[in-house]
Amino acid sequence: MFILSSPSGAGKTTIARRILAEDGAIRLSVSYTTRPIRPGEQEGRDYFFVDRQEFDRKVEAGEFIEWAEVFGHFYGTPKAEIKAGLKAGHDYLFDIDWQGTQQLYQRMEVDVVRVFLLPPSIGELERRLSSRGTDSADVVAQRMARARSEISHWDGYDYVVVNDDIDLCFAKVTGILEAERMRRARQTGLVDFVRELMR
Ligand code: 5GP
Repeated sequence: MFILSSPSGAGKTTIARRILAEDGAIRLSVSYTTRPIRPGEQEGRDYFFVDRQEFDRKVEAGEFIEWAEVFGHFYGTPKAEIKAGLKAGHDYLFDIDWQGTQQLYQRMEVDVVRVFLLPPSIGELERRLSSRGTDSADVVAQRMARARSEISHWDGYDYVVVNDDIDLCFAKVTGILEAERMRRARQTGLVDFVRELMR
């Protein structure tokens, strides 16, 4: 379970998309959310979009591994799909916030790798968050306040990568993924493999 968190504007979506495009062994954990769909998003690819009633029903039924309220909307990670996928040997990429990260870590500590991306500077983050040009100063200020609050949770992660260059950042994150896959405890079948080598 490879968790990628960051304040918005730190490049997490770009990095996540690239990992999914280039690494055939990892899948995206697609969350449920109550927030409205944005232009360009697809039901089932980016999120499963549900209303509050359906979300609450899923919470009650215990259908989420973790769920949290993030800036006024609800988000949850589906339990059944992920557990079945993990059991079948697939790696999963989670684009979730610090609250979800904490919950997954508490439940499945040994199977979790937590990576946090940071922007190179507050000025650069502000530039990225206001790059649409049409946003009012208020909207940008609100996004900056959210970003600061997300950044404050950086110390709940195993790895922290500063994204000052997207290619370099991608290489670093991929390096973490590869190294974590090579941990002895994660390599199933190693005992038989070594036994065969020794014969
Ligand atoms: P957005 O609405 O911009 O797609 O996501 C807002 C925030 O919610 C991001 O920080 C994202 O990582 C987080 N998020 C998305 N899905 C989940 C989830 O299933 N659980 C939790 N805890 N956070 C999520």
